[in-house]
Amino acid sequence: MAYDFDLFVIGGGSGGVRLARIAAGHGARVGVAEERFWGGTCVNVGCVPKKIMVQAAEYGMWAEDAAAFGWTSMVKGEHDWAVLAAARDAEVARLSGIYGKLLMGAGCQVFDARATFIDAHTLDVGGKRITAERIVIATGGQAMKLDIPGAEHGMISDGLFTLPALPRRVAIIGGGYIALEFACLLAGLGAQTEVFYRAPLPLTGFDQDIREALPEALQAQGIVMNAGIMPRGITRSGDGYSLALSNDALCQVDAVFFCTGRKPNTAGLGLEAAGVAMNAAGAVIVDDEHATSQAHIFAIGDVVDRLNLTPMATAVGHALADTLFGKNPRRASYLNVPTAVFTSPPIGTVGLTEAEAARLGPTDVYVARFTPMRHTISKRQGRKTTMKLVVDQASQTILGAHMLGEDAAEIMQGIGIAVAMGATKQDFDRTIGIHPTAAEEFVTLRTRTRVVGEAQ
Ligand code: NDP
Repeated sequence: MAYDFDLFVIGGGSGGVRLARIAAGHGARVGVAEERFWGGTCVNVGCVPKKIMVQAAEYGMWAEDAAAFGWTSMVKGEHDWAVLAAARDAEVARLSGIYGKLLMGAGCQVFDARATFIDAHTLDVGGKRITAERIVIATGGQAMKLDIPGAEHGMISDGLFTLPALPRRVAIIGGGYIALEFACLLAGLGAQTEVFYRAPLPLTGFDQDIREALPEALQAQGIVMNAGIMPRGITRSGDGYSLALSNDALCQVDAVFFCTGRKPNTAGLGLEAAGVAMNAAGAVIVDDEHATSQAHIFAIGDVVDRLNLTPMATAVGHALADTLFGKNPRRASYLNVPTAVFTSPPIGTVGLTEAEAARLGPTDVYVARFTPMRHTISKRQGRKTTMKLVVDQASQTILGAHMLGEDAAEIMQGIGIAVAMGATKQDFDRTIGIHPTAAEEFVTLRTRTRVVGEAQ
């Protein structure tokens, strides 16, 4: 049977676009449908506009600190939200446009429409029946609110990027990536910010030393960190909202953000009609090749809810296109994926946490905590850097590296290469440091802080 396309991709986010472009480059006839915005969450309501706002907040801090370095005319004045929003939106529009152009330039047929399955090879694309030999689901995910009374008064993360002005008082519910990034950027721009999370420490799953160091850094910026306290309900109160808290207190704010996780975008896609299996959370179930329960239908990115990071989705999409159409079968590795949380200061991490490594066997742990040079001068509080290496004792292989401190995201990219290559502690030790930097601490961690983990 002749199909309309060799490959049809549902979803024009980072993963779907990379896959489609590469597949078309290998000679496949490719169609792509996107119902909302090209570039997906990352470009439009995620990484990109968020990072611009993080940078805006940093400028305020640098302006405040400049006086300690002798600058007399750099003062932190009023922040103009409209200027920032316009610059941010222009950049997002530029990048989103590039995504669409890249697809067309690669020879893909582009559909600004929702696509749903009619059967395992047939899609309804904006009312048109389209058939494809292979189909990739790359529909991403969306933020979820908690099911509490008055939840309709709260926003999800998308709402940050359409706010007409900086809210004066903000409540952030959740203690994960998005909650903490939003808390730092909103506080940095001048909002009174409170974070509510259920666990004793934020960032479940991250290394314990980093989790313990983070609240101090955030509190030093005036962010109120409410560990183990959650809102039970939200009501309107004057021009703002009142949060009834689990400790029976009330909190008055002007804006509420639910940053309590995301769910895969599979509802209404017709996956049942196509025979594609999902798990209880609605994520598409895939094997190691990213094939679904139908061998010719694949799923990549946040919709499989595996490691919800843009570069992971693009790596998997690229590998899948090479495998299916490039005569180059390969898989993207989910091991040793570096990641960053763009808090202030940021967190960078790669590999195993101390607790994960300890479960595998005896582990040498090296931790350093110091005030970076800039802040010995600025005297800014809460800017201590924490750096950590987690090392397999037997082989001396670096299993994990973790950092809370300025430039952590930039530094961890390079450390990530070394860890992925299987570098040992001795490889780090014989690397000459770049002086004076914070990064050099990673190659001068001489004294072991502790040994953890039992022999198996
Ligand atoms: P996270 O999974 O990071 O955090 C979710 C937060 O919500 C956690 O604090 C969690 O608490 C809390 N939570 C979930 N359910 C409940 C509940 N029923 N009651 C109370 N609290 C609850 O999700 P995010 O939404 O912050 O981010 C989604 C994903 O997007 C991230 O995991 C990451 O993969 C990606 N991302 C990456 C970024 C980056 O690379 N810089 C930036 C932003 C997002 P608990 O910890 O106790 O479970």
